[in-house]
Amino acid sequence: MNTAQAASGPEAAASPEENLARLRRRQNRYLPKMMRLCAAAHPYYAPLMERLGLADDDFRTVEDLRKLPPLPKKEYARDPEAFRMDLKDVPDLTPEETTLADIVYTAGSTSKPAPFYDTVHDRFARVQLMGRAAAIAGVGPDDTVMNLFPLSSVPHQGFLSASWGAMASGAKLLAGITGRAYPDIPVHRRMDQAVQTAERQKATVLWGITTYVRRFVMRAQELGMDFSSVRLAMVMGEPCPPYMRQDIRSRLMSMGSKDPSTNNGYGLTETQGPAMECVELGGMHQPSPEQFFFEVVDRETGEPLPDGEPGMMLVSHLNRRGTVLLRYVGGDVVALSHETCPNCGRAEPRFLGTPRRADGFTKVKGTLINLGSLQDSLAAMMGRGIAEYQIVLTTEDPSDTLSPDVMLLKIACAPENRHRIGAEAKALVRNAAEITPRIEFLPADGFAEIAGGYKFKRVTDERERRLLGNE
Ligand SMILES: [Zn+2]
Repeated sequence: MNTAQAASGPEAAASPEENLARLRRRQNRYLPKMMRLCAAAHPYYAPLMERLGLADDDFRTVEDLRKLPPLPKKEYARDPEAFRMDLKDVPDLTPEETTLADIVYTAGSTSKPAPFYDTVHDRFARVQLMGRAAAIAGVGPDDTVMNLFPLSSVPHQGFLSASWGAMASGAKLLAGITGRAYPDIPVHRRMDQAVQTAERQKATVLWGITTYVRRFVMRAQELGMDFSSVRLAMVMGEPCPPYMRQDIRSRLMSMGSKDPSTNNGYGLTETQGPAMECVELGGMHQPSPEQFFFEVVDRETGEPLPDGEPGMMLVSHLNRRGTVLLRYVGGDVVALSHETCPNCGRAEPRFLGTPRRADGFTKVKGTLINLGSLQDSLAAMMGRGIAEYQIVLTTEDPSDTLSPDVMLLKIACAPENRHRIGAEAKALVRNAAEITPRIEFLPADGFAEIAGGYKFKRVTDERERRLLGNE
């Protein structure tokens, strides 16, 4: 029996109902203080509660949070400061609760990355959560973890996640320190240097963004590295469908690795870290379920859905002191299970299947893109010569489904306008989405679908088809 099984011992045989009841008791213990602080010191929720005629003691169980409306992502992105607690005049708080420790930013959507504030209290919660996430994937003191998250120009949480995860689990920690070069202070290393570090230090765990870890493994293979020490790829930020796991596995095995697995994590900046697989495709365990109230609701009615049914994910913070969000619509469709895990015996709830974006946000090359506002910008160009356009999300090499994502912008316009419109559209997408699209021109009356009277798909995601076809 491993330590994880031992830790969840008495829960091991519990029913989903028992697991849920036990979890609710743990969550409900945190709720009174959270709501007292929101009523006293939250720039957004204090006035909202007053407007709705709600006091902090109207929230006795986490289900009472449903008295508040869901919070759309754009509301937080529009004014992130309004969601940061203002605790300076609140008596009887500890220095940990009130001292700012870290700021991470939401991943690049078309709106500006929003700061997410952690006080020291929240940092400790992050350390605890990441230590648990590492343990769920089986990372421990015998491991040497290679942190492959980039040291990015805007700090995202990935680098922190892998660092705290390794340190909290007692593993040795290495870092690639890769990322976009900053000539003024040249600290970044190239991927090849990181590959050599992993080989020389006998890394056992490669931890980073899914497509980057795969690229890293491919490069190591090209360089003829000995990766016999590697036993686990911890991949997050993007889904990792079975064929991609198989690809990473066979590449690692070609470099001497014995029986490597690829465990996928799922999380948002707003959930402070990933839910983690204990085995490949076994569902993703929430490492700190007592700190977050996750709801899965029907997209149309907002009604809660039973376990196993996919719906909109809402998350409420139950024990934070920096940025606090309640009933926040993360933008993903997920399904939950409270069943005791048949693989590891943990009672912590799992997200099942592959969470997918639901609100017009999607990830291209690991960057979150707001397709809605991108379309707004492109629509504005329709007055300046674009007859029609279509966004196609695909891969660099359609025959290699694992190759990097590409945004293809199909534009119908008069031939004499192509040069100008191509340049303008490229600049517009780069500005809005931090990626450079490929442009394909069609005659002004292109897009046979429109002529045929069919419903025109303004955005098609060919990657989705490939995901569905393989699962
Ligand atoms: Zn498990």
